[in-house]
Amino acid sequence: MTETYKVLLLPGDGIGPEVMRQVRKVTDWLGRKRGLGFELDEGLLGGAAYDAHGTPLPRETLDQAHAADAVLLGAVGGDRWEDLPFDKKPERGLLGIRKELGLFANLRPALVFEAMASASTLKEDVVSGLDLMIVRELTGGIYFGEPAGIEDQADGTQRGVNTLVYTTPEVDRIARVAFDLARKRDKRVCSVDKANVLQATAMWRDAVTRLGAAEYPDVALSHMYVDNAAMQLVRDPRQFDVMVTTNMFGDILSDAAAMLTGSLGMLPSASLGEPDANGQRPALYEPVHGSAPDIAGQDKANPLAAILSFAMMLRYSFDREAEAALVEHAVSDTLGGGLRTQDIMQAGMAKVSTTVMGEAVIREMDKLHNEGQ
Ligand code: NAD
Repeated sequence: MTETYKVLLLPGDGIGPEVMRQVRKVTDWLGRKRGLGFELDEGLLGGAAYDAHGTPLPRETLDQAHAADAVLLGAVGGDRWEDLPFDKKPERGLLGIRKELGLFANLRPALVFEAMASASTLKEDVVSGLDLMIVRELTGGIYFGEPAGIEDQADGTQRGVNTLVYTTPEVDRIARVAFDLARKRDKRVCSVDKANVLQATAMWRDAVTRLGAAEYPDVALSHMYVDNAAMQLVRDPRQFDVMVTTNMFGDILSDAAAMLTGSLGMLPSASLGEPDANGQRPALYEPVHGSAPDIAGQDKANPLAAILSFAMMLRYSFDREAEAALVEHAVSDTLGGGLRTQDIMQAGMAKVSTTVMGEAVIREMDKLHNEGQ
């Protein structure tokens, strides 16, 4: 009997619905050619949800998300909703759903496709073949630690406070995600901290070291201070396999790593929660880019980040490595064939629309499938 994968699609706002339409072509194809059974549900999030229900995160969307095996988001936000009160803004919907699903691990791959190596701001020979995964802790650390706030002082000055807190269970669970990922890759984890200055991250380093020795002796673990990691990312990024780090360090380093790859329109991401009794983790996949209101509705958006986010879903939620690799290979071949959306346009290439790019990926999937991949 074919397994059925229950997927909730949340197209959201701006270019979200356009790129999501291209992902549907991929799910249709996998159903027809590979016999994968997808049960696709669609829901409202962000500005679209506010327009329909007066809230960026309706209860119904949360129920749909809980009922699904995995969620794929397009993007949320736009000028139309800019002046709404803080709790009604589209972005609150995204933060709310991440919180509700308990997504504590953010996975940000930085992958350089051969055909795109010359588009990086770094030299081609530094980034060519780059395949790095940054695992960022998403629900703890200095972004959430208490006390936090701005206090007025008696002398008329102010005092701003944030607190960096981690506990052993928090470090263990994010480190486990990194070690498990490394086992499926090159079996190397680099944990990034500032253990020489911040006690909370000295404790982080000790916890990762203990866990690695006890449960993952087959994975090579190294440690690096965050300042050095920032330098190494732009000096020699290919030295890394999986990098695991705190919320704030991950926020910064993952954006730096993203730039190595050339364009926002190419970057997928995943956020994972605690596994349930069956080992299934709540998971939300989304392109890193926003709703790009400047090009929305014009069939100009690059759909590859959304398609690659779906490939991550195939790999991490459904364990369909062969199909994930097929989709990624098809994206690589499409770029190799010289097609570019406007955001990644290069001299001598053919500029195509969102729709044409989506169709081209399907054609390459067909070819690879017929060749036996
Ligand atoms: P953005 O990522 O939407 O756009 C930045 C620039 O990159 C724009 O010029 C845009 O045209 C271009 N771009 C982005 N994605 C593209 C794609 N797939 N193909 C081609 N070009 C692409 O960021 P922004 O302009 O800072 O924000 C716009 C809106 O999106 C805001 O409301 C913001 O809050 C929201 N936002 C949402 C998310 C999310 O849903 N995860 C993330 C970031 C920003």
